Amino acid sequence: MSVTTDYYELLEIQRTADGDEIKRAYRSAARRYHPDTNPGDAEAEARFKQISTAYETLRDPQKRAHYDRFGADGPRGGGDPSGFGGGAGGFGDIFEAFFGGQQGGGGGRSGPAAGPDLEVAVEIDFEAAVFGSAEEVTVRTAIACDTCEATGAASGTHAERCDQCGGAGQVRQVRQSILGQMVTAVACPVCRGAGELIADPCTTCNGEGREITDKTFTVDIPAGVDTGSTLRLSGFGAVGPRGGGKGDLYVQVRVRGHDRFERQGNDLVCELHVPVTQASLGAVLAFETLDGPEDLVIPRGTQTGKVFRLRGRGVPHVRGRGRGDLLVPVVVDTPVDLDADDEEALRAIAARRGEAVAEQDKGLVGRIKSAFS
Ligand code: ZN
Ligand code: ZN
Repeated sequence: MSVTTDYYELLEIQRTADGDEIKRAYRSAARRYHPDTNPGDAEAEARFKQISTAYETLRDPQKRAHYDRFGADGPRGGGDPSGFGGGAGGFGDIFEAFFGGQQGGGGGRSGPAAGPDLEVAVEIDFEAAVFGSAEEVTVRTAIACDTCEATGAASGTHAERCDQCGGAGQVRQVRQSILGQMVTAVACPVCRGAGELIADPCTTCNGEGREITDKTFTVDIPAGVDTGSTLRLSGFGAVGPRGGGKGDLYVQVRVRGHDRFERQGNDLVCELHVPVTQASLGAVLAFETLDGPEDLVIPRGTQTGKVFRLRGRGVPHVRGRGRGDLLVPVVVDTPVDLDADDEEALRAIAARRGEAVAEQDKGLVGRIKSAFS
């Protein structure tokens, strides 16, 4: 087996591969090297892990850009709140979990616990979903305490190692059961799992090392999202207590309706009413698409139900290239509110074509007029 650490080579894809290609390549590679398919094959297992790492990076546009620039061993992204401009925000839907969760890091009691993930809903305009946008969201979150620099200890003091657990945060409990002696590890009752004790807590945060506050983020909404899409912003959740890392921020998208356009997957649908004259004789109409006006050729003899398709004028594929189409079903309008000349012309056409039509209802004025003619 060739040894490569290049993520693109691992997935056997071009460097220009789009989201769908990456996903497909990952699935086929993961299936090939999955430990279940290769029992006892350490090489396959190692490869499977590499493939998973490659996919975790390349499927996230932000991580991928970072990898393209710096490689796998480059400086770590995220974690720096000041770096959050308009353009931040990795995208991944939460249905992405594949072959079970393989979240990086792993638990263990080394270091302070990361903060919780947060969830916020954002409602955006129809056009914003089609073309992408930057939306502000405000979440109630926890940020590091400035006063104690997230240590939880009053200035000039610092936390001391917990004597009860020796800094491990856990203590063993020995119980007698019918199966004999049972040893279980439980959170240390003295330090409550922190492994250290603060004699003189910071008064700003009561020793928590973090404060609750409202924070506003600008979220980059990628073109093509729809109601039900979830964006994951890695590392934009709440901070953990006493210098713990940040959780993720999940942004649930809801898209407002549009008065003209309806969405069907990545296609847009917009009905077009055409007067009978234009439908019969043909015409070129300026049709307002979401991208601006476009000439729409109505051929002679167009009937109600005819659907015109404007290719590439629909919604962009959120994970790939290209856009859906704009479908324009035609409704031919029967002319109403005819004036006398219209009526005369229509009746003349009917008479020439031998089409029997109803008698003219002259109304009161008409009857008086005809009485004097
Ligand atoms: Zn503090
Ligand atoms: Zn302890």
